[in-house]
Amino acid sequence: MFSYRHAFHAGNHADVLKHTTLIALMKYLTQKDTALTVIDTHAGAGLYRLDGDYTETSGEAQEGVFRLLSEPKAPPAQAPRAQAAPKTVAKPAAAKPASTAAAGWAPALQDYIGILRGLNPQFAETGDVAHLKIYPGSPFIEQQFLSGRDKLKLFELHPTDYKSLSGNIEQLGVGRQVAVAREDGFEALKTFLPPPARRAMVLCDPSYEMKSDYGRVATCMADAVKRFATGTYVVWYPIIPRPEAHDLPRKLKTLAVKASRSWLNATLTVKSSKLTTDTSGEVIRPGLPASGMFVINPPHTLKAELQAALPQMVALLGQDRNAGFTLEHGG
Ligand code: SAM
Repeated sequence: MFSYRHAFHAGNHADVLKHTTLIALMKYLTQKDTALTVIDTHAGAGLYRLDGDYTETSGEAQEGVFRLLSEPKAPPAQAPRAQAAPKTVAKPAAAKPASTAAAGWAPALQDYIGILRGLNPQFAETGDVAHLKIYPGSPFIEQQFLSGRDKLKLFELHPTDYKSLSGNIEQLGVGRQVAVAREDGFEALKTFLPPPARRAMVLCDPSYEMKSDYGRVATCMADAVKRFATGTYVVWYPIIPRPEAHDLPRKLKTLAVKASRSWLNATLTVKSSKLTTDTSGEVIRPGLPASGMFVINPPHTLKAELQAALPQMVALLGQDRNAGFTLEHGG
């Protein structure tokens, strides 16, 4: 059960989608005067080194955040409209270094890059991705938006990641505003809903290392909506050739519709999911080709934010003609 370590995946294309969406959500939800409770059911280690053994071994950040920032292309100035099907394939734009292309970035991606700059002063100063060394996990992103009245609850089961997370959070010196627990996030969520000020955002981002995670996400979200219907519930999911993975967004949509809740589903595909063979006939697995973010009760601003950011992600992260995005919403 404990073979998954997010350090191998930190900064990959799925993190770019997940964290850009999370930033847009946090930015909007922390604008109001009423206290917000943020619950991150699967928190990870909080911070990752992009020059560490894990990230370098997997090379996933090269297909994600590094590619986004170092591709010799500017983001497209005009975002094409999204289509549910067929997938929109954005065309790459003219050559221009990422550091000088800031004006062309969609606001949500500008905020994402701003957070990376805040953690990597040399990268901020030079714009050179060689100086991008630290990558923020969801807990650090969430924490950055909190004000004194807000609370953040983090759950992480892996003993090593729990220890890293606790140490990383302690260094922030934010006291009891952020609580870290080595507990099952699916179970722990129940005890925090409804939250005291009746405003909450929940990020549910399991590793899906076990097949049962898909079912647990759906059950956990159904229970959460029953306990507190107006919370914002955010689920990351992989898009892989597995029935449970295909069913999950469908189940979440059914849940939202039955509960008369609004919903939004954004997906990003960077490459084909097909197996290929190399010259020696060895099968090459493509790695994660696509992922999605399903949001129940999204803020009204989220669709426009993603409508602008997703085509740029496709243009910069897309690896073949299968690259594209979808953006659906309802309710
Ligand atoms: N949300 C993090 C981020 O965006 O930076 C990444 C989280 S990672 C995808 C999933 C994490 O959940 C792993 O660190 C894993 O150890 C942890 N985990 C697995 N099952 C869990 C459970 N039932 N409760 C809490 N944490 C769990």
